[in-house]
Amino acid sequence: MVKEDKIASIADLASFCKKNGFVFQSGEIYGGLAGFWDYGPLGAELRNNIKSLWWGAFVRKREDVVGIDGAIITHPMVWKASGHVDSFTDPLVDCLKCKERHRADNMLEDVGVENADALSIERMDELIQKKKIKCPKCKGDLGNVRRYNLMFRTQVGPVESESSISYLRPETAQLIFSNFQFVQKINRMKLPFGIAQIGRSFRNEISPRNFLFRDREFEQMEIEFFVHPDEYNKCPFMDEVNELVLNAYSSENQLKKQKMKKIALKELVKKKIMKANWQAYWIAKQYYWFIELGVSPDNLRVRQHLPDEKSHYALDTWDIEYQFPFGWKELQGIANRTTFDMTQHMKYSKKDLQYFDEETGKKVVPYVVAEPSQGVERAFLVFITDSYRKENSGTKDERVVLKLHPKLSPIKIAVFPLLKNDDNLVKKSREIFNELREHFETFYDSSGSIGRRYRRMDEVGTPYCITVDHKTIEDNTVTVRDRDSMEQMRVKTDELVNYLRELLSGKIKFSK
Ligand SMILES: [Zn+2]
Repeated sequence: MVKEDKIASIADLASFCKKNGFVFQSGEIYGGLAGFWDYGPLGAELRNNIKSLWWGAFVRKREDVVGIDGAIITHPMVWKASGHVDSFTDPLVDCLKCKERHRADNMLEDVGVENADALSIERMDELIQKKKIKCPKCKGDLGNVRRYNLMFRTQVGPVESESSISYLRPETAQLIFSNFQFVQKINRMKLPFGIAQIGRSFRNEISPRNFLFRDREFEQMEIEFFVHPDEYNKCPFMDEVNELVLNAYSSENQLKKQKMKKIALKELVKKKIMKANWQAYWIAKQYYWFIELGVSPDNLRVRQHLPDEKSHYALDTWDIEYQFPFGWKELQGIANRTTFDMTQHMKYSKKDLQYFDEETGKKVVPYVVAEPSQGVERAFLVFITDSYRKENSGTKDERVVLKLHPKLSPIKIAVFPLLKNDDNLVKKSREIFNELREHFETFYDSSGSIGRRYRRMDEVGTPYCITVDHKTIEDNTVTVRDRDSMEQMRVKTDELVNYLRELLSGKIKFSK
């Protein structure tokens, strides 16, 4: 009987990622910069795989979504119109004694106040007094709570003045809204359709925490899906998603302190718990994306924002949450933003950004029915957390294995000569390696025992290892070893590429 342990804490996850070269603290040789991370060779590959799988699923394979790649610094009026200049803030409180700055809402949540980030500044001050909260660092008295803007400011051009101030974008969404009309007209897109973007965003978080979970530089994979304002329930693809059974935690369940429920998506829609078909559809598509890439459905749920939790302009917001070692946390937010954004940009730019509906001959303000917004880093954390196993079969023979979906694996195939000092084996192995790397991310390793080499590949999620031995020289077959079952079989070298391609794509299963 094999005992399987999962990752126990976020600290274990961080040290696993560092040990295997996935992620390091940025600037670590100088002590590190909080909230910034550098990705090593395997981390860079995993990130790239996540992004290209997402883009493939939601842009390349769809006729109704097109992609853009907007600038990180854009016209500051974009951030005025979006509300970020005036209200993209967190509540900050200073310690009067040691001058350390803290997030007021986090401190309130630490003493049991729910949804503290939705409270007014005045209410936070009251609660800090009432609950006698002190500085967590020095126990000193705290000052008044004030708002602190999370955007990174910078200066454009050589002269420093009010008008040269700009911002690193705090989200990718606004680049989609400000380019909406341009993209729609050039590509002759008709409602309903979406615009997607993958790109870096920056938030000057007061206290970045939980490893990659809340960082200051991150990358978003985002879609804004636009519909005619009267047609947010007219999704023609509901058949694709109706049967999805998911863990759902509606705002009513939360307010009544009930548990989340296992329920079919069609029931959530029928009972109007999910208010717009198109939004329900996008929630399901994003949920499926994680499941199809191997994430356990038991560790996923959708949670509806409470009335005082969602942004003022959003009609309804659902988060896809994942059960991390530190609790259920947001993995992706999917808001129904209505016509708010496009109306704002029309107001501030004084341009008519409406969509001309050819059928009715009327103009309408495009309605954003769903904004699936996924951080690459959070997806990264989920895929590693969910696939990590420490297997122990009672002997000393313990192994750590990342059971990553092969499409996500940074290295798909490893090639080993059985002996590193045998010229014939090395020559043959290099030949096979050079052929395979034309097709797959392939890694060559000749150091240490075969057992050690297998373990190293298991730990970074490589699905298949190939060993070249003396029999290979005689009959042109190699050993293919499967990561998950640890079983091995012989395959002819001239059939290897096709065989591996079918295995990796899931067309065939590994079996003797
Ligand atoms: Zn203090």
